[in-house]
Amino acid sequence: MLNLWQILFEELKYLKRFMINMPEKYQDLLSRARAGLEKEAKKSSAMRLELPEPEVIWVGNKTIFRNYAEFPKLLRRDANRLLMYMAKELATAASIDGERAIFIGRKDRESFSQLIQRYMKDGVICPVCGSPDTHLERSNRLQFMVCEACGARSIAKVV
Ligand SMILES: [Zn+2]
Repeated sequence: MLNLWQILFEELKYLKRFMINMPEKYQDLLSRARAGLEKEAKKSSAMRLELPEPEVIWVGNKTIFRNYAEFPKLLRRDANRLLMYMAKELATAASIDGERAIFIGRKDRESFSQLIQRYMKDGVICPVCGSPDTHLERSNRLQFMVCEACGARSIAKVV
């Protein structure tokens, strides 16, 4: 995500060397650019992460999550890992079948929506600036969420 605030922020960092004679002015500009950048990141995340409704049908004792593949794609997470997370939370077995995911047992759409919301909160949305532009990084035994908008590293509560 490169927007005007980010460009200004980078510009100011570069300008620092020429502004040694007016450090206060520089600090003031820098903090204003940073505030603008954070605000922008929050606003854009709210707009951009519009997820579709899970489409769910039941076939016998199975639940077919028909548009499953869209979710890991939008969240930029591994499809198998997200599936494992949901299967564990729902205490059942699940598998991927093309674009669909198949869960054993009858699960309703609301359960999937709630799980996806929780997954986003615990492992996708940066807790510092609210941006969904994050990736996971494993270091020793901990999993970190690294924000591509503000650079924050936070502990992710998902595997
Ligand atoms: Zn962030």
